[in-house]
Amino acid sequence: MSEADTPLRPVSDQAHDDMVLPFAVEPLDVRGRVVRLGPAIDEILTRHAYPPAIARLVGEAAALTVLLGAALKSEGRLQLQTRSDGVVDMIVVDFDAPDRLRAFARFDEARLAETAPGAELLGHGHLALTIEQGSDVARYQGVVALDGQGLEEAAHQYFRQSEQIPTFVRLAVAESLTGAATNWRAGGLMLQFLPASVERQRRADLAPGDAPDGAPIPEVLDDDAWAEAKALAGTLEDHELVDPTLSSERLLYRLFHERGVKVFAPQAVRAACRCSDERIAAMLRNFTQQERDDMVGDNGKIGVTCEFCSTYREFDPADFKAE
Ligand SMILES: [Zn+2]
Repeated sequence: MSEADTPLRPVSDQAHDDMVLPFAVEPLDVRGRVVRLGPAIDEILTRHAYPPAIARLVGEAAALTVLLGAALKSEGRLQLQTRSDGVVDMIVVDFDAPDRLRAFARFDEARLAETAPGAELLGHGHLALTIEQGSDVARYQGVVALDGQGLEEAAHQYFRQSEQIPTFVRLAVAESLTGAATNWRAGGLMLQFLPASVERQRRADLAPGDAPDGAPIPEVLDDDAWAEAKALAGTLEDHELVDPTLSSERLLYRLFHERGVKVFAPQAVRAACRCSDERIAAMLRNFTQQERDDMVGDNGKIGVTCEFCSTYREFDPADFKAE
């Protein structure tokens, strides 16, 4: 169904997990997506058995990756990767269009134990977003410095620098208690200002958000529509993004009903790795014979555990001997 054909209908109260809902607030020239992750993020975080602070960070990274990756064509792939000197020195999240999500983090357990709750875990380094849109389109990579600002702010900087689109991102992660079990949930909202006139977009982009206190008030202000959209989105609370009983449509209606919000076809997301026996065998073939010999364990096999999904596989070293 084309956008113009979308009929008006009541706001759905049906909450769907593991779903991205694209939307537009046309009077404000704003488009966006809201993502709600339930079983998919719970499967990823529970399988890794991360401490809660690490799980929260990986959950945020996953929600952000899905928000960005949902824009890809059917065969595209988006990877978010952080490398830094913090407690968590690496996070990798892959989104394979149209719906596959996987993630892992590497962190220092001893340093985590000494870190105060709520402290910033990424430290200094960089966040890279790599986008592959299929074989005929060049790979694209955008990089932002990590400087203790967290993933939401890093995402804002990425859009300012790499894409020059005024963007608002909000991420939330929570552990929800259902009976005796706890389940991880994550949510995110992304909003972009896309006016027909590029002039209006540039104007909004110039506002120096991080001017020091006491700096003269800049003459260039956000476009009124974008300022209003950000103010409305700014009323969103974390618990709303992770509330399993609040539908994404209801959430958007709360934020934007005064202006009217239009939703498009939702996109499903699932936890799925791309590892396979064939891929790992191919990777082993790329090592030298000496390297493979060094990998052989006490049982005479080469054991490989996938970092993303923790699947353990065993290979017979004889299968890789040069003919
Ligand atoms: Zn895997």
